Amino acid sequence: MPLRRGDQYKAGLDDGRDVQLLGRKVPAVVREPVLSGAIDAVAQIYDRQFDPQFAELFTLAEGESGSLSGRMYQIPRSEHDIRLRGALIDHVARMSGGTMGRTPEYVPLVLIGLLDAAGGIAKKNADWAQNIARYYEHCRGGDLFLSHSFADRQVDRATESKKISHLSYVPMKDGGIQVSGIKAAATSAPIADEIIVLTPPRNGLAPHQAVFFAVPTKTEGLRFVCRQPLLEGPAEDHPLGGRFDEMDAWAIFDKVNVPAERVFVAGDVELVAMAWRNLLTLAYYHILVRSAVKADLFLGTSSLIAGYLGLNAFQGIRESLADIARYGETIRAFARAAEADVIMTRAGMAMPNPRILAVGHMYAVEHHHRLRESLVGIAGQSVLMSPGVADAEAPELAAPGHGGNDDERRRVFRLAWDLAASAFAGRQYMFEVFNGRDLTRNRTAFFERFDLKASQTLALALAGAGAKRADDTGAAVIRG
Ligand SMILES: Cc1cc2nc3c(=O)[nH]c(=O)nc-3n(C[C@H](O)[C@H](O)[C@H](O)COP(=O)(O)OP(=O)(O)OC[C@H]3O[C@@H](n4cnc5c(N)ncnc54)[C@H](O)[C@@H]3O)c2cc1C
Repeated sequence: MPLRRGDQYKAGLDDGRDVQLLGRKVPAVVREPVLSGAIDAVAQIYDRQFDPQFAELFTLAEGESGSLSGRMYQIPRSEHDIRLRGALIDHVARMSGGTMGRTPEYVPLVLIGLLDAAGGIAKKNADWAQNIARYYEHCRGGDLFLSHSFADRQVDRATESKKISHLSYVPMKDGGIQVSGIKAAATSAPIADEIIVLTPPRNGLAPHQAVFFAVPTKTEGLRFVCRQPLLEGPAEDHPLGGRFDEMDAWAIFDKVNVPAERVFVAGDVELVAMAWRNLLTLAYYHILVRSAVKADLFLGTSSLIAGYLGLNAFQGIRESLADIARYGETIRAFARAAEADVIMTRAGMAMPNPRILAVGHMYAVEHHHRLRESLVGIAGQSVLMSPGVADAEAPELAAPGHGGNDDERRRVFRLAWDLAASAFAGRQYMFEVFNGRDLTRNRTAFFERFDLKASQTLALALAGAGAKRADDTGAAVIRG
Protein backbone atom coordinates (compact mmCIF):
# COMPACT_ATOMS: atom_id res chain seq x y z
CA MET A 1 0.00 0.00 0.00
CA PRO A 2 1.62 3.27 -1.04
CA LEU A 3 2.34 5.89 1.58
CA ARG A 4 2.10 9.47 0.46
CA ARG A 5 4.66 12.18 0.85
CA GLY A 6 3.77 15.77 1.67
CA ASP A 7 4.18 16.99 -1.92
CA GLN A 8 1.85 14.23 -3.15
CA TYR A 9 -0.75 15.33 -0.61
CA LYS A 10 -0.34 18.94 -1.79
CA ALA A 11 -0.58 17.97 -5.47
CA GLY A 12 -3.88 16.21 -4.73
CA LEU A 13 -5.36 19.45 -3.43
CA ASP A 14 -5.05 21.11 -6.82
CA ASP A 15 -8.32 19.66 -8.11
CA GLY A 16 -10.56 22.69 -8.60
CA ARG A 17 -12.53 22.15 -5.39
CA ASP A 18 -15.11 24.79 -4.57
CA VAL A 19 -13.83 26.77 -1.58
CA GLN A 20 -14.92 30.27 -0.59
CA LEU A 21 -12.94 32.53 1.73
CA LEU A 22 -13.85 36.08 2.76
CA GLY A 23 -16.53 36.16 0.08
CA ARG A 24 -14.24 35.17 -2.78
CA LYS A 25 -13.65 31.85 -4.52
CA VAL A 26 -10.23 30.40 -3.74
CA PRO A 27 -8.61 29.52 -7.10
CA ALA A 28 -6.22 26.96 -5.58
CA VAL A 29 -6.11 26.13 -1.86
CA VAL A 30 -2.40 25.22 -2.03
CA ARG A 31 -1.57 28.78 -3.03
CA GLU A 32 -3.92 30.46 -0.54
CA PRO A 33 -1.83 32.15 2.21
CA VAL A 34 -4.62 31.79 4.83
CA LEU A 35 -4.62 28.01 4.33
CA SER A 36 -0.96 27.38 3.57
CA GLY A 37 0.23 27.12 7.20
CA ALA A 38 -2.02 24.17 7.97
CA ILE A 39 -1.36 22.59 4.55
CA ASP A 40 2.40 22.72 5.21
CA ALA A 41 1.90 21.28 8.70
CA VAL A 42 -0.14 18.35 7.30
CA ALA A 43 2.44 17.81 4.54
CA GLN A 44 5.17 17.60 7.17
CA ILE A 45 3.25 14.84 8.93
CA TYR A 46 3.00 12.91 5.66
CA ASP A 47 6.73 13.39 5.07
CA ARG A 48 7.52 12.08 8.51
CA GLN A 49 6.18 8.68 7.44
CA PHE A 50 9.40 8.37 5.42
CA ASP A 51 11.82 9.40 8.15
CA PRO A 52 13.75 6.24 9.10
CA GLN A 53 14.10 7.58 12.64
CA PHE A 54 10.33 7.32 13.13
CA ALA A 55 9.64 4.29 10.93
CA GLU A 56 8.16 2.15 13.70
CA LEU A 57 5.88 4.95 14.86
CA PHE A 58 4.43 5.71 11.45
CA THR A 59 4.57 2.43 9.53
CA LEU A 60 4.18 -1.29 9.88
CA ALA A 61 5.16 -4.22 7.67
CA GLU A 62 2.19 -6.05 6.22
CA GLY A 63 1.66 -9.71 5.37
CA GLU A 64 4.30 -11.97 3.86
CA SER A 65 5.54 -9.38 1.40
CA GLY A 66 6.46 -7.11 4.31
CA SER A 67 5.35 -4.07 2.34
CA LEU A 68 4.97 -0.96 4.45
CA SER A 69 1.62 0.51 5.36
CA GLY A 70 0.76 3.53 7.45
CA ARG A 71 -0.09 3.22 11.11
CA MET A 72 -2.62 6.04 10.70
CA TYR A 73 -5.14 3.52 9.35
CA GLN A 74 -4.11 0.56 11.48
CA ILE A 75 -7.04 -1.22 13.15
CA PRO A 76 -6.03 -1.85 16.77
CA ARG A 77 -6.22 -5.54 17.65
CA SER A 78 -4.46 -5.52 21.02
CA GLU A 79 -3.40 -3.34 23.94
CA HIS A 80 0.01 -3.15 22.28
CA ASP A 81 -1.56 -1.69 19.12
CA ILE A 82 -3.40 0.88 21.23
CA ARG A 83 -0.19 1.94 22.93
CA LEU A 84 1.56 2.28 19.59
CA ARG A 85 -1.35 4.40 18.39
CA GLY A 86 -0.98 6.53 21.53
CA ALA A 87 2.71 7.03 20.76
CA LEU A 88 1.84 8.11 17.20
CA ILE A 89 -0.80 10.59 18.40
CA ASP A 90 1.63 11.99 20.97
CA HIS A 91 4.35 12.38 18.34
CA VAL A 92 2.10 14.12 15.82
CA ALA A 93 0.61 16.34 18.53
CA ARG A 94 4.09 17.50 19.55
CA MET A 95 4.63 18.87 16.02
CA SER A 96 2.00 21.56 16.74
CA GLY A 97 2.09 21.56 20.55
CA GLY A 98 -1.31 19.84 20.48
CA THR A 99 -2.90 22.83 18.76
CA MET A 100 -3.93 20.90 15.64
CA GLY A 101 -6.75 18.54 16.46
CA ARG A 102 -7.55 17.27 12.97
CA THR A 103 -4.23 15.91 11.84
CA PRO A 104 -4.33 13.08 9.27
CA GLU A 105 -4.38 10.29 11.86
CA TYR A 106 -7.55 11.65 13.58
CA VAL A 107 -10.54 10.99 11.29
CA PRO A 108 -9.32 7.47 10.41
CA LEU A 109 -10.13 6.72 14.06
CA VAL A 110 -13.75 7.77 13.47
CA LEU A 111 -13.78 5.64 10.32
CA ILE A 112 -12.43 2.67 12.30
CA GLY A 113 -15.26 3.32 14.81
CA LEU A 114 -17.72 3.13 11.91
CA LEU A 115 -16.08 -0.06 10.67
CA ASP A 116 -16.50 -1.51 14.14
CA ALA A 117 -20.24 -0.74 13.94
CA ALA A 118 -20.50 -2.34 10.48
CA GLY A 119 -21.36 -5.74 11.99
CA GLY A 120 -24.51 -4.26 13.53
CA ILE A 121 -25.26 -2.32 10.35
CA ALA A 122 -24.92 -5.53 8.28
CA LYS A 123 -27.80 -7.09 10.19
CA LYS A 124 -30.10 -4.52 8.61
CA ASN A 125 -28.33 -3.79 5.35
CA ALA A 126 -25.37 -5.85 4.17
CA ASP A 127 -24.62 -3.42 1.31
CA TRP A 128 -24.02 -0.51 3.68
CA ALA A 129 -21.66 -2.61 5.81
CA GLN A 130 -19.72 -3.63 2.70
CA ASN A 131 -19.60 -0.01 1.59
CA ILE A 132 -17.98 0.97 4.89
CA ALA A 133 -15.38 -1.80 4.57
CA ARG A 134 -14.61 -0.86 0.96
CA TYR A 135 -14.43 2.83 1.82
CA TYR A 136 -11.99 2.13 4.65
CA GLU A 137 -9.77 0.22 2.17
CA HIS A 138 -10.06 3.08 -0.32
CA CYS A 139 -8.88 5.65 2.24
CA ARG A 140 -6.17 3.41 3.63
CA GLY A 141 -4.98 2.50 0.12
CA GLY A 142 -4.77 6.15 -0.91
CA ASP A 143 -3.31 7.27 2.45
CA LEU A 144 -5.99 9.95 2.36
CA PHE A 145 -6.46 12.99 4.58
CA LEU A 146 -10.07 12.93 5.79
CA SER A 147 -12.33 15.50 7.37
CA HIS A 148 -15.66 14.77 8.97
CA SER A 149 -18.75 16.62 9.95
CA PHE A 150 -21.54 15.52 12.21
CA ALA A 151 -22.44 18.97 13.54
CA ASP A 152 -25.52 20.52 12.00
CA ARG A 153 -25.92 24.20 11.42
CA GLN A 154 -27.34 25.84 14.54
CA VAL A 155 -31.05 26.48 14.41
CA ASP A 156 -33.70 28.05 16.57
CA ARG A 157 -34.58 25.11 18.81
CA ALA A 158 -37.96 26.61 19.59
CA THR A 159 -38.95 25.93 15.98
CA GLU A 160 -40.87 22.72 15.32
CA SER A 161 -38.31 20.11 14.32
CA LYS A 162 -40.02 19.18 11.03
CA LYS A 163 -39.74 22.79 9.87
CA ILE A 164 -35.96 22.81 10.37
CA SER A 165 -34.03 22.27 7.16
CA HIS A 166 -31.24 19.99 8.36
CA LEU A 167 -29.17 18.18 5.77
CA SER A 168 -31.36 15.52 4.19
CA TYR A 169 -31.48 13.16 1.22
CA VAL A 170 -33.78 11.78 -1.42
CA PRO A 171 -33.20 8.28 -2.81
CA MET A 172 -32.15 7.87 -6.44
CA LYS A 173 -33.10 5.07 -8.78
CA ASP A 174 -29.59 3.59 -8.96
CA GLY A 175 -29.41 3.04 -5.18
CA GLY A 176 -27.50 6.26 -4.55
CA ILE A 177 -28.87 9.30 -2.75
CA GLN A 178 -29.09 13.00 -3.51
CA VAL A 179 -28.11 15.21 -0.59
CA SER A 180 -28.95 18.84 0.13
CA GLY A 181 -28.35 21.02 3.16
CA ILE A 182 -25.52 22.28 5.34
CA LYS A 183 -23.07 20.70 7.73
CA ALA A 184 -21.30 23.15 10.01
CA ALA A 185 -17.77 23.45 11.37
CA ALA A 186 -16.07 20.81 9.29
CA THR A 187 -12.50 21.35 10.44
CA SER A 188 -9.82 21.06 7.75
CA ALA A 189 -12.43 20.13 5.12
CA PRO A 190 -11.13 22.69 2.55
CA ILE A 191 -7.66 21.10 2.70
CA ALA A 192 -8.71 17.45 3.01
CA ASP A 193 -9.16 14.79 0.34
CA GLU A 194 -12.58 13.57 1.47
CA ILE A 195 -15.37 14.44 3.87
CA ILE A 196 -17.31 11.88 5.90
CA VAL A 197 -20.78 13.12 6.80
CA LEU A 198 -22.51 11.70 9.86
CA THR A 199 -25.79 12.41 11.62
CA PRO A 200 -25.80 12.32 15.40
CA PRO A 201 -28.94 10.93 17.03
CA ARG A 202 -31.31 13.65 18.25
CA ASN A 203 -34.93 14.01 19.29
CA GLY A 204 -37.22 14.29 16.30
CA LEU A 205 -34.59 13.06 13.82
CA ALA A 206 -36.55 12.34 10.64
CA PRO A 207 -35.61 9.29 8.51
CA HIS A 208 -34.70 11.46 5.50
CA GLN A 209 -32.17 13.29 7.74
CA ALA A 210 -30.61 10.09 9.13
CA VAL A 211 -27.66 9.59 6.83
CA PHE A 212 -23.98 8.57 6.86
CA PHE A 213 -21.95 8.91 3.66
CA ALA A 214 -18.63 10.13 2.27
CA VAL A 215 -17.65 12.10 -0.81
CA PRO A 216 -14.41 13.55 -2.18
CA THR A 217 -13.86 17.20 -1.31
CA LYS A 218 -14.03 17.94 -5.04
CA THR A 219 -17.60 16.90 -5.78
CA GLU A 220 -20.14 18.54 -8.07
CA GLY A 221 -22.57 20.61 -5.95
CA LEU A 222 -20.38 20.66 -2.80
CA ARG A 223 -19.06 24.02 -1.66
CA PHE A 224 -17.02 24.92 1.42
CA VAL A 225 -17.30 28.35 2.99
CA CYS A 226 -14.44 29.10 5.38
CA ARG A 227 -14.93 30.90 8.67
CA GLN A 228 -13.10 34.20 9.19
CA PRO A 229 -9.31 33.84 9.19
CA LEU A 230 -7.65 34.26 12.58
CA LEU A 231 -4.31 35.87 11.80
CA GLU A 232 -3.86 39.47 12.89
CA GLY A 233 -0.59 40.89 11.54
CA PRO A 234 2.43 39.06 10.16
CA ALA A 235 2.62 35.27 10.51
CA GLU A 236 6.04 35.47 12.20
CA ASP A 237 4.41 37.25 15.14
CA HIS A 238 2.16 34.21 15.61
CA PRO A 239 4.29 31.14 16.26
CA LEU A 240 1.13 28.99 16.43
CA GLY A 241 -1.57 30.83 14.47
CA GLY A 242 0.83 31.45 11.57
CA ARG A 243 1.41 27.72 11.11
CA PHE A 244 -1.35 25.66 12.66
CA ASP A 245 -4.68 27.32 11.93
CA GLU A 246 -6.73 24.39 10.66
CA MET A 247 -9.62 26.05 8.88
CA ASP A 248 -13.21 25.28 9.92
CA ALA A 249 -15.80 25.50 7.17
CA TRP A 250 -19.46 25.11 6.38
CA ALA A 251 -20.03 22.27 3.91
CA ILE A 252 -22.92 23.22 1.64
CA PHE A 253 -24.51 20.38 -0.30
CA ASP A 254 -26.63 21.44 -3.26
CA LYS A 255 -28.21 18.34 -4.77
CA VAL A 256 -25.02 16.34 -4.42
CA ASN A 257 -25.28 12.88 -5.97
CA VAL A 258 -23.76 10.29 -3.66
CA PRO A 259 -23.22 6.97 -5.46
CA ALA A 260 -24.67 3.84 -3.86
CA GLU A 261 -21.25 2.54 -2.78
CA ARG A 262 -20.59 5.73 -0.76
CA VAL A 263 -23.79 5.39 1.33
CA PHE A 264 -23.23 3.90 4.79
CA VAL A 265 -26.65 4.47 6.38
CA ALA A 266 -29.72 6.16 4.92
CA GLY A 267 -33.16 6.54 6.40
CA ASP A 268 -32.69 4.38 9.48
CA VAL A 269 -32.93 6.37 12.71
CA GLU A 270 -32.37 3.31 14.92
CA LEU A 271 -29.22 2.36 13.06
CA VAL A 272 -27.87 5.88 13.47
CA ALA A 273 -28.34 5.59 17.25
CA MET A 274 -26.75 2.12 17.35
CA ALA A 275 -23.75 3.06 15.20
CA TRP A 276 -23.20 6.25 17.17
CA ARG A 277 -22.78 4.45 20.49
CA ASN A 278 -19.03 3.76 20.17
CA LEU A 279 -18.25 5.70 17.03
CA LEU A 280 -16.04 8.26 18.77
CA THR A 281 -14.26 6.00 21.29
CA LEU A 282 -10.89 6.14 19.54
CA ALA A 283 -11.43 9.80 18.73
CA TYR A 284 -11.76 10.57 22.45
CA TYR A 285 -8.54 8.67 23.03
CA HIS A 286 -6.88 10.92 20.45
CA ILE A 287 -8.28 14.03 22.15
CA LEU A 288 -6.92 12.98 25.56
CA VAL A 289 -3.42 12.11 24.33
CA ARG A 290 -3.24 15.34 22.31
CA SER A 291 -4.61 17.46 25.16
CA ALA A 292 -1.89 16.19 27.49
CA VAL A 293 0.69 17.44 24.97
CA LYS A 294 -1.04 20.80 24.86
CA ALA A 295 -0.85 20.97 28.66
CA ASP A 296 2.93 20.37 28.31
CA LEU A 297 3.14 23.39 26.00
CA PHE A 298 1.24 25.56 28.49
CA LEU A 299 3.50 24.35 31.29
CA GLY A 300 6.70 24.95 29.32
CA THR A 301 5.61 28.45 28.30
CA SER A 302 4.37 29.41 31.77
CA SER A 303 7.42 28.10 33.58
CA LEU A 304 9.82 29.85 31.18
CA ILE A 305 8.01 33.12 31.75
CA ALA A 306 7.98 32.60 35.52
CA GLY A 307 11.75 32.12 35.25
CA TYR A 308 12.32 35.24 33.08
CA LEU A 309 10.31 37.37 35.48
CA GLY A 310 11.90 35.95 38.63
CA LEU A 311 8.54 34.75 39.96
CA ASN A 312 9.44 31.23 40.97
CA ALA A 313 9.85 32.00 44.64
CA PHE A 314 6.22 33.07 44.99
CA GLN A 315 3.91 30.44 46.41
CA GLY A 316 0.94 31.41 44.20
CA ILE A 317 3.06 31.11 41.04
CA ARG A 318 4.28 27.66 42.04
CA GLU A 319 0.71 26.59 42.72
CA SER A 320 -0.38 27.83 39.29
CA LEU A 321 2.46 25.92 37.62
CA ALA A 322 1.55 22.83 39.64
CA ASP A 323 -2.06 23.28 38.54
CA ILE A 324 -1.09 23.08 34.86
CA ALA A 325 1.15 20.07 35.55
CA ARG A 326 -1.69 18.34 37.45
CA TYR A 327 -4.08 18.91 34.57
CA GLY A 328 -1.70 17.31 32.07
CA GLU A 329 -0.83 14.40 34.34
CA THR A 330 -4.49 13.71 35.15
CA ILE A 331 -5.44 13.55 31.50
CA ARG A 332 -2.46 11.34 30.76
CA ALA A 333 -3.54 9.07 33.62
CA PHE A 334 -7.03 8.72 32.09
CA ALA A 335 -5.47 7.77 28.74
CA ARG A 336 -3.13 5.24 30.41
CA ALA A 337 -5.98 3.73 32.43
CA ALA A 338 -8.10 3.37 29.29
CA GLU A 339 -5.18 1.69 27.48
CA ALA A 340 -4.64 -0.75 30.35
CA ASP A 341 -8.33 -1.68 30.45
CA VAL A 342 -8.78 -2.45 26.76
CA ILE A 343 -12.03 -4.03 25.65
CA MET A 344 -12.33 -6.31 22.64
CA THR A 345 -15.30 -5.54 20.41
CA ARG A 346 -17.45 -8.05 18.50
CA ALA A 347 -15.54 -7.07 15.37
CA GLY A 348 -12.30 -8.12 17.09
CA MET A 349 -11.00 -4.60 17.57
CA ALA A 350 -9.20 -3.47 20.70
CA MET A 351 -10.64 -0.25 22.13
CA PRO A 352 -9.33 1.74 25.08
CA ASN A 353 -11.98 1.54 27.79
CA PRO A 354 -14.81 3.81 26.55
CA ARG A 355 -16.14 4.61 30.03
CA ILE A 356 -12.76 5.81 31.27
CA LEU A 357 -12.28 7.83 28.09
CA ALA A 358 -15.70 9.45 28.43
CA VAL A 359 -14.95 10.50 32.01
CA GLY A 360 -11.46 11.65 31.02
CA HIS A 361 -12.80 13.70 28.14
CA MET A 362 -15.40 15.39 30.34
CA TYR A 363 -12.70 16.16 32.91
CA ALA A 364 -10.44 17.60 30.21
CA VAL A 365 -13.19 19.92 28.97
CA GLU A 366 -14.42 20.95 32.43
CA HIS A 367 -10.93 22.00 33.53
CA HIS A 368 -9.45 23.21 30.25
CA HIS A 369 -9.98 26.88 31.17
CA ARG A 370 -7.43 26.46 33.98
CA LEU A 371 -4.59 26.29 31.45
CA ARG A 372 -5.30 29.72 30.07
CA GLU A 373 -6.07 31.23 33.47
CA SER A 374 -2.81 29.93 34.94
CA LEU A 375 -0.69 31.16 32.04
CA VAL A 376 -2.28 34.61 32.06
CA GLY A 377 -2.10 34.75 35.86
CA ILE A 378 1.62 33.97 35.81
CA ALA A 379 2.66 36.14 32.87
CA GLY A 380 0.55 39.22 33.60
CA GLN A 381 0.78 42.06 31.07
CA SER A 382 3.57 40.47 29.08
CA VAL A 383 1.05 38.16 27.38
CA LEU A 384 -0.32 41.29 25.76
CA MET A 385 2.59 43.74 25.78
CA SER A 386 5.08 41.70 23.79
CA PRO A 387 6.56 43.47 20.77
CA GLY A 388 6.13 41.96 17.31
CA VAL A 389 8.90 41.64 14.73
CA ALA A 390 8.40 45.21 13.49
CA ASP A 391 8.93 46.69 16.98
CA ALA A 392 11.55 44.25 18.19
CA GLU A 393 14.47 46.52 17.26
CA ALA A 394 13.52 49.23 19.77
CA PRO A 395 15.80 48.58 22.80
CA GLU A 396 13.37 50.19 25.23
CA LEU A 397 10.76 47.56 24.26
CA ALA A 398 13.04 44.57 24.85
CA ALA A 399 11.18 41.71 26.51
CA PRO A 400 11.60 42.06 30.27
CA GLY A 401 13.47 39.79 32.61
CA HIS A 402 16.55 37.65 32.71
CA GLY A 403 17.48 34.25 31.32
CA GLY A 404 17.58 33.38 27.65
CA ASN A 405 18.33 36.37 25.47
CA ASP A 406 16.16 39.25 24.26
CA ASP A 407 15.08 37.35 21.15
CA GLU A 408 14.21 34.15 23.03
CA ARG A 409 12.15 36.03 25.61
CA ARG A 410 10.32 38.03 22.95
CA ARG A 411 9.45 34.83 21.08
CA VAL A 412 8.23 33.04 24.21
CA PHE A 413 6.01 36.01 25.10
CA ARG A 414 4.59 35.90 21.56
CA LEU A 415 3.94 32.19 22.07
CA ALA A 416 2.05 33.03 25.27
CA TRP A 417 -0.04 35.56 23.31
CA ASP A 418 -0.94 32.91 20.74
CA LEU A 419 -1.77 30.37 23.44
CA ALA A 420 -3.83 32.61 25.65
CA ALA A 421 -4.98 35.85 24.05
CA SER A 422 -4.98 35.94 20.23
CA ALA A 423 -7.87 35.02 17.93
CA PHE A 424 -6.06 31.70 17.45
CA ALA A 425 -6.18 31.14 21.21
CA GLY A 426 -9.91 31.92 21.22
CA ARG A 427 -10.55 29.35 18.52
CA GLN A 428 -8.39 26.85 20.42
CA TYR A 429 -10.58 27.28 23.49
CA MET A 430 -13.75 26.81 21.42
CA PHE A 431 -12.26 23.73 19.79
CA GLU A 432 -11.38 22.04 23.07
CA VAL A 433 -14.78 22.77 24.56
CA PHE A 434 -16.82 21.60 21.55
CA ASN A 435 -14.81 19.27 19.33
CA GLY A 436 -16.06 16.10 21.03
CA ARG A 437 -19.68 17.40 21.19
CA ASP A 438 -20.92 19.62 24.00
CA LEU A 439 -20.36 18.81 27.63
CA THR A 440 -24.02 18.83 28.63
CA ARG A 441 -25.05 16.19 26.12
CA ASN A 442 -21.91 14.15 26.80
CA ARG A 443 -22.68 14.17 30.52
CA THR A 444 -26.27 13.11 29.86
CA ALA A 445 -25.22 10.36 27.43
CA PHE A 446 -22.67 9.07 29.93
CA PHE A 447 -25.21 8.85 32.72
CA GLU A 448 -27.87 7.27 30.52
CA ARG A 449 -25.51 4.38 29.86
CA PHE A 450 -24.11 4.11 33.38
CA ASP A 451 -24.94 0.85 35.12
CA LEU A 452 -26.32 1.73 38.54
CA LYS A 453 -26.83 -1.85 39.69
CA ALA A 454 -23.62 -2.25 41.72
CA SER A 455 -24.07 1.07 43.53
CA GLN A 456 -27.69 0.30 44.30
CA THR A 457 -26.74 -3.16 45.62
CA LEU A 458 -24.29 -1.51 47.99
CA ALA A 459 -26.86 1.03 49.17
CA LEU A 460 -29.54 -1.61 49.66
CA ALA A 461 -27.19 -3.90 51.57
CA LEU A 462 -26.13 -1.17 53.97
CA ALA A 463 -29.73 -0.08 54.37
CA GLY A 464 -30.49 -3.66 55.38
CA ALA A 465 -33.05 -3.81 52.58
CA GLY A 466 -33.27 -5.89 49.45
CA ALA A 467 -29.90 -7.66 49.56
CA LYS A 468 -29.84 -11.42 49.88
CA ARG A 469 -27.45 -11.21 52.81
CA ALA A 470 -26.67 -8.29 55.05
CA ASP A 471 -22.97 -8.46 54.02
CA ASP A 472 -23.76 -8.73 50.28
CA THR A 473 -22.29 -5.36 49.38
CA GLY A 474 -21.05 -6.27 45.93
CA ALA A 475 -17.43 -6.31 47.12
CA ALA A 476 -14.98 -8.15 44.87
CA VAL A 477 -14.04 -11.64 46.03
CA ILE A 478 -10.77 -13.37 45.13
CA ARG A 479 -11.54 -17.03 44.58
CA GLY A 480 -8.82 -19.62 45.10
C1 LIG B 1 -13.44 25.12 16.55
C2 LIG B 1 -14.47 24.06 16.31
C3 LIG B 1 -14.20 23.02 15.43
C4 LIG B 1 -15.16 22.04 15.18
N1 LIG B 1 -14.87 21.02 14.30
C5 LIG B 1 -15.81 20.10 14.03
C6 LIG B 1 -15.56 19.04 13.09
O1 LIG B 1 -14.48 18.92 12.52
N2 LIG B 1 -16.56 18.18 12.84
C7 LIG B 1 -17.77 18.27 13.46
O2 LIG B 1 -18.64 17.45 13.20
N3 LIG B 1 -18.01 19.23 14.35
C8 LIG B 1 -17.08 20.15 14.64
N4 LIG B 1 -17.36 21.16 15.52
C9 LIG B 1 -18.74 21.35 15.98
C10 LIG B 1 -19.03 20.65 17.28
O3 LIG B 1 -19.29 19.31 17.02
C11 LIG B 1 -20.25 21.37 17.87
O4 LIG B 1 -19.85 22.69 18.22
C12 LIG B 1 -20.77 20.65 19.07
O5 LIG B 1 -21.29 19.40 18.70
C13 LIG B 1 -21.90 21.45 19.76
O6 LIG B 1 -22.89 21.77 18.82
P1 LIG B 1 -23.25 23.29 18.52
O7 LIG B 1 -22.02 24.10 18.48
O8 LIG B 1 -24.13 23.27 17.34
O9 LIG B 1 -24.04 23.78 19.78
P2 LIG B 1 -25.61 23.55 20.14
O10 LIG B 1 -25.97 22.13 19.85
O11 LIG B 1 -26.41 24.61 19.44
O12 LIG B 1 -25.59 23.81 21.66
C14 LIG B 1 -25.48 25.11 22.23
C15 LIG B 1 -25.72 24.98 23.74
O13 LIG B 1 -27.03 24.46 23.98
C16 LIG B 1 -26.98 23.27 24.76
N5 LIG B 1 -27.92 22.31 24.18
C17 LIG B 1 -28.28 22.21 22.89
N6 LIG B 1 -29.16 21.20 22.72
C18 LIG B 1 -29.34 20.65 23.93
C19 LIG B 1 -30.14 19.57 24.42
N7 LIG B 1 -30.90 18.85 23.62
N8 LIG B 1 -30.06 19.27 25.73
C20 LIG B 1 -29.28 20.00 26.55
N9 LIG B 1 -28.52 21.05 26.16
C21 LIG B 1 -28.55 21.36 24.87
C22 LIG B 1 -25.56 22.72 24.56
O14 LIG B 1 -25.12 22.00 25.69
C23 LIG B 1 -24.73 24.00 24.41
O15 LIG B 1 -24.40 24.49 25.69
C24 LIG B 1 -16.41 22.12 15.81
C25 LIG B 1 -16.68 23.16 16.70
C26 LIG B 1 -15.74 24.12 16.96
C27 LIG B 1 -16.07 25.22 17.91
